[in-house]
Amino acid sequence: MALALAFDQAMGLTVLGSGSCELRRERSSPAYLLEAKGFSLLLDLGQGALRRLLDTGRDPAALGAVLLSHHHPDHLGDLIPLLFALNHDPHMRDTARLGLLAHAGLAPILAGLQGLFGAWLSPPPERLAPTWLQPGQETTLGPWLVRAAAAGHTPFSLAYRLECTGASLVYLGDSPASPDLAPFCQDTGLLIVHCAGSDHDPKPGHASPRQAGGLAARAGAKALLLSHFYGDVDPEAAVASARALFSGPVWAARDFLALGVGAGHSQLLGES
Ligand SMILES: [Zn+2]
Ligand SMILES: [Zn+2]
Repeated sequence: MALALAFDQAMGLTVLGSGSCELRRERSSPAYLLEAKGFSLLLDLGQGALRRLLDTGRDPAALGAVLLSHHHPDHLGDLIPLLFALNHDPHMRDTARLGLLAHAGLAPILAGLQGLFGAWLSPPPERLAPTWLQPGQETTLGPWLVRAAAAGHTPFSLAYRLECTGASLVYLGDSPASPDLAPFCQDTGLLIVHCAGSDHDPKPGHASPRQAGGLAARAGAKALLLSHFYGDVDPEAAVASARALFSGPVWAARDFLALGVGAGHSQLLGES
């Protein structure tokens, strides 16, 4: 069930997948539902994202867009069922009008899937409208201004900053929490960082909890959400590590956790 936003919360965020490539009942692969002013989008589309979305009571046909951070399969595993439904689920076919935003380097993946599956995964342009971005570009999407930045996890990774009525959210995807990203994250209401490893056992090309806290502090973020947990990472230890460097609220994501993002702060709303 959708949780009501307080008057000063411009956006609602629901974690649909706080996990990784590991197949775990309690943590689906990365996906986040972002809602504002009657428009909704998904940040990443890991396998299980559409089932999690249905479990919250939302209608997938009401989605306005999907933003992909990069091409690793745990971030776009539900692309095949989504494209298939856009073409062959009568409700989706008649109702859905979906934008797809990603780095221009991901265009061959969509073309490749459509080459393999043909018409099964090739909805007409009025039902699926891709926008291929380069780092540094921005575009409008529903009520949001969307900015993209190079994020360093892969050559085609993008971090996204979404702004709406004075509030902002930054989603880094799997990318390292490099201090160079501080201007892009400046004063954001919520910074989402994927901590795939611990401080003691960091994964190359990913952020550690300590790096996440350091970036949040340097950028003046209002709150920090850690996510993308593998089974060998203790979420509470990750939160404690980030808190050592960042004095604002730090939360560990879990599936169905709902948050409100306002102009100057964010807060937990509970379970969606
Ligand atoms: Zn990942
Ligand atoms: Zn990745």
